Amino acid sequence: MAIHLPNRQLFIDGEWRETVLKKRIPVINPATEQIIGDIPAATAEDVEIAVEAAKKAFSRNKGKDWSSASGAYRAKYLRAIAAKITERKSELGKLEAIDSGKPLDEALWDMDDVAGCFEYYADLAEGLDTKQKAPVSLPMETFKSFVLKEPLGVVALITPWNYPLLLATWKVAPALAAGCTAILKPSELASVTCLELGEVCREVGLPPGVLNILTGLGTEAGAPLASHPHVDKVAFTGSTATGSRIMASAAQMVKPVSMELGGKSPIIVFEDVDLDKAAEWTLFGCFWTNGQICSATSRLLVHESIASEFLDRLVKWTKKIKISDPFEEGCRLGPLVSGEQYDKILKFIATAKSEGATILSGGDRPKHLNKGFFVEPTIIIDVTTSMQIWREEVFGPVLCVKTFSTEDEAIDLANDTHYGLGAAVISNDPERCDRVAKAFRAGIVWINCSQPCFCQAPWGGIKRSGFGRELGEWGLENYLSVKQVTQYISEEPW
Ligand code: NAD
Repeated sequence: MAIHLPNRQLFIDGEWRETVLKKRIPVINPATEQIIGDIPAATAEDVEIAVEAAKKAFSRNKGKDWSSASGAYRAKYLRAIAAKITERKSELGKLEAIDSGKPLDEALWDMDDVAGCFEYYADLAEGLDTKQKAPVSLPMETFKSFVLKEPLGVVALITPWNYPLLLATWKVAPALAAGCTAILKPSELASVTCLELGEVCREVGLPPGVLNILTGLGTEAGAPLASHPHVDKVAFTGSTATGSRIMASAAQMVKPVSMELGGKSPIIVFEDVDLDKAAEWTLFGCFWTNGQICSATSRLLVHESIASEFLDRLVKWTKKIKISDPFEEGCRLGPLVSGEQYDKILKFIATAKSEGATILSGGDRPKHLNKGFFVEPTIIIDVTTSMQIWREEVFGPVLCVKTFSTEDEAIDLANDTHYGLGAAVISNDPERCDRVAKAFRAGIVWINCSQPCFCQAPWGGIKRSGFGRELGEWGLENYLSVKQVTQYISEEPW
């Protein structure tokens, strides 16, 4: 399918602006390995200009700036952005599919979620107007105290490539709703739709400097942005390794950060389940978006009494998953995002084999596709808890399997990880589900499902999966600071 990639520059201060050093990065269609366009490669010089624009917009006209405008004023823009995204859904979905490799259907659903998220935070922005000056009850009548919630300032939003525009929106929408001004730095591997968000902002007349978009490499654009002294907060989604680097640099300036990092999430399937339903959620939980989901339930723990029958079903259904160009009708798995990811996933599989695991299904490039970064959905058994495939995040279509005999053993195995993002339990016993949900050491738990995500509910992890919560009202709090105002109200002298 011929898709025209818009030729964009950086989006700074409400305008398209060429990078200072005039550098660009090629955009590769992961399904064909062909270069289909390019995006600007920002450097520290561009970061300076963008931060200055965001700073100015935060306090542009004393009283008329984005930060002190009413929530209702900001909500108007967020709703206009949502409407434009919906209007341009088909075009944006195609750009997302060709840039990231996700099936077109899924890319289009993402655009609905993007619009929904902007709408949702428009409502919360309005809600802020009524929540100002929340009183605090004090033990002395001579004083009165209240709390103001204020935007944190200029925020850097650094995002990954697996849900390019959606994960950017999870940060942009609440940051703008709160009254912050922002610089978005999407992943160099999939930035096309994030740049289009700049065009959407221009079309709806978002005041200049409120949202700036810098594409470029992590080291050249992300690092100077995160460490910039006039950036008041860094909200990051990406790998644990990069998150840790950003935290180290933020620590120099005692700069607040929120971290949405990697995962190695478990799914426990008990012996009392409906095998078909459990198999469906297990496959969806691990292979949706090609396993390139931070919360993918990529460690299956299945009760030993049903393991053989359950695995037969998983293998049979896995073979029916249509792997193809994202634009082909019925495509369920597209290519991985890049050649680097492709090599990395095949290396994980090779290491698992060399460590003694058995590839039950998949494990290679699909035979019918000789171009593109495609990997078969892969199921691995005979796994031990010391193997790399059990311990490390693969971020690809690889499910590793262990059996268990008791509930306690399943919970211990599930929690045997440095990560703590998602966890799922499938059982027909509600009390057991409740017990296991509480026992999981994770920020998100699914019962009798895996992966559904709603912008009203908090999202985030514990342990090396990060801290802070996105989405819901928690997502808005990420960009607000709490100011105590206490007044002496007695006639008596102090
Ligand atoms: P990554 O860490 O390589 O990159 C993420 C972003 O950070 C990119 O924009 C990149 O350019 C930038 N970056 C890289 N080095 C930087 C530096 N030194 N300073 C500042 N910015 C830098 O991650 P990725 O490969 O894009 O994404 C995959 C990872 O993201 C996986 O580990 C996945 O689990 C995680 N993820 C987490 C969530 C969540 O909600 N917890 C969601 C999606 C993805």
